[in-house]
Amino acid sequence: MQVVLLGPPGVGKGTQGRRLAGERGWALVSTGDMLRDAIAKLTPLGDAAKKLMDKGLLVPDDVMIGLVRERTLEPDAREGFVLDGFPRTVPQADALDAILRERSRPVDRVVALTAPDEELVRRLSARWECPVCRRVYNTLSAPSKDGRHCDDHPETELIQRVDDTVQTVQRRLEVYRAQTAPLVDYYRVQGRLVEVNGAVSSESVYGALVAAVDC
Ligand code: AMP
Repeated sequence: MQVVLLGPPGVGKGTQGRRLAGERGWALVSTGDMLRDAIAKLTPLGDAAKKLMDKGLLVPDDVMIGLVRERTLEPDAREGFVLDGFPRTVPQADALDAILRERSRPVDRVVALTAPDEELVRRLSARWECPVCRRVYNTLSAPSKDGRHCDDHPETELIQRVDDTVQTVQRRLEVYRAQTAPLVDYYRVQGRLVEVNGAVSSESVYGALVAAVDC
């Protein structure tokens, strides 16, 4: 099954997508994580992407489309995948349809997670992640056991993302409204969208997400 998770930064796509993919045996395809891995490996792609990401801007469509085209062919994506952070523009959504049509594997569900901006800003500024496994913690609502290290990698100190600073978060929300929010209508008019309130507890969001995926 192929699932797209849409929604603004901080709404919980990564956390919810990771759990859904893990429980169903699907791949989690997070384009943000793929770019952060490229940055960590000091590749030319990572170098170019970092300059844009640090400013809260999007990486060009053709680069992202190429990455997703390849990643979704990997063996762990054979049974299905959850896309987190892609598509982010209308050209990316069109390309995704074309890629999956070629493979006769359509997008089965598009789930849009929603939350008010104040909540997103509050969550993003409290967000810490494990640089090894990318597990995300929140100092307000979901801290790690000791508050400093990853529960699954006790030797590893949690880090805060460069683009989670207040100013860059505002820019990312503007970019979301201008370039990604139109995708909600794009999928709604096609009758492919299910909206899920992402501002409630993580358990409740997950329950609604599973119901949306299984409907
Ligand atoms: P995320 O982890 O999904 O919040 O993504 C972090 C950053 O990576 C974004 O602010 C963009 O700079 C870049 N990025 C991730 N996915 C995409 C995409 N599909 N298209 C363009 N840029 C992306």
